[in-house]
Amino acid sequence: MRSHEAGVLHADGYGAAPQWLPYPSDVMAMLPQLWATGVDRDHDGVLTVAGVRTTDLAARFGTPAYVMDEQDFRDRARAFRDDFTAPFEQRLAGADVYYAGKAFLCSAVAQWVMEEGLHLDVCSGGELEVARRVGFPGERIGMHGNNKSLAELRAAVEYGVGRIVVDSFTEIDRLVRLADELGVRVPVMVRVTVGVEAHTHEFIATAHEDQKFGFSLAGGAAEAAALAVLAHPEQLDLRGLHSHIGSQIFEVAGFEVAARRLVGLHVRIATEHGHLMPEMDLGGGYGMSYTSQHHPLTPAELGDQLAGVVERELKPLRDAIPDAPLPRVSIEPGRSIVGPSTFTLYEVGTVKAVELDQGATRLYVSVDGGMSDNVRTALYEADYSCLMAGRWSAAEPAVARVVGKHCESGDIVVMDEYLPADVAPGDLIAVPGTGAYCRALSSQYNHTPRPPVIAARDGVARVIVRRETIDDILALDVP
Ligand SMILES: *Cc1c(COP(=O)(O)O)cnc(C)c1O
Repeated sequence: MRSHEAGVLHADGYGAAPQWLPYPSDVMAMLPQLWATGVDRDHDGVLTVAGVRTTDLAARFGTPAYVMDEQDFRDRARAFRDDFTAPFEQRLAGADVYYAGKAFLCSAVAQWVMEEGLHLDVCSGGELEVARRVGFPGERIGMHGNNKSLAELRAAVEYGVGRIVVDSFTEIDRLVRLADELGVRVPVMVRVTVGVEAHTHEFIATAHEDQKFGFSLAGGAAEAAALAVLAHPEQLDLRGLHSHIGSQIFEVAGFEVAARRLVGLHVRIATEHGHLMPEMDLGGGYGMSYTSQHHPLTPAELGDQLAGVVERELKPLRDAIPDAPLPRVSIEPGRSIVGPSTFTLYEVGTVKAVELDQGATRLYVSVDGGMSDNVRTALYEADYSCLMAGRWSAAEPAVARVVGKHCESGDIVVMDEYLPADVAPGDLIAVPGTGAYCRALSSQYNHTPRPPVIAARDGVARVIVRRETIDDILALDVP
């Protein structure tokens, strides 16, 4: 949903900019909502993170690089842990926050999540292995996935994960057999497709959802799945129902419909089948700012609103069973914790002024990365913003498009942005908001080694994921 920023008119000659992009009064200014809290500009105009200059980072670690503000990550994780859960502690049966590791996971990040007292969501054997290597407590891990292999399920059960979110009848059978074989009782949740699909400010609510995840509520599959789990009380422990309605969501209205539908089934399983589930999961998908157009709720606002939603929607449970214990709620934010903590630092290689219609010009600024380190622009038409990072410039704003070095015309990092008109080869460009689904979705396209992840904290920068080398890539070739 793009909207025109009220009151902003584009100056003549800037016809290349989209309507939503405001003409900057200061092309060097940082919009705080886009950047990790530890990012600043020093007296030379150099962008700094946790007191470390990006020029020094580029010299020491090379470009491109993902640069994480460790404290920012920890603060956002803590805000979810404390501020989001507070209203649930006060008004309901409490809440747990699972960091969705698929947004970005490495050993250091798993360690931080553990230290900050969050739970962790994994959706593959690989992500589980990261958790295992840092000694993440099994009972604080949840595992998802529509096609977990038997080996992945076995690894999860052997590690003692706190919940496996079952996604098919086949998987229920597999877990029953595994539980028998290993002599354990496996805690499970049932992934319910509630017929709500949410994006940004709008959501679609239908009866049926045409997608691969979960058990459909409307078709009765979700109830049948819950009963299939309950049919094996020795092997499986039905902890609750689970739903996840989308990503980059800014309003709670979609969660309201999802919670209502989830509670409906929760109550039916209690009243008709005599099983009162102790938990309920509302998934992730909370939005973050990529551009001036995004205004996410804070974890405190989100907690307050979602607690209100759950409180209202649980009324039928209270009516049906007055002394019923309320379920403990969990959520699974990924993007909203890690996304804003990170920016990607690139070096400009070439700048090309391309004439458009009606005399407008667009600067094509080619950087030393691209769709291999951030595929979201090409994949989802995602919007990003960026800043000149390595020096001051007093030049006029010019409409720019930051593009990568790959052999695709769709290889775009930042579709539309104003940069100083004197941007030149050798300049550093920083793209904020690249913590989620960038490194996680990165590729080696064109035999491009993946950038490192650098974490900065208290004036010190260190590598937490090293840069890939061409030898790493070629080590897989069998001559
Ligand atoms: C992707 C996903 C999340 C995290 O989504 P974000 O948009 O990163 O918050 C949480 N839960 C499930 C089941 C998911 O698939």
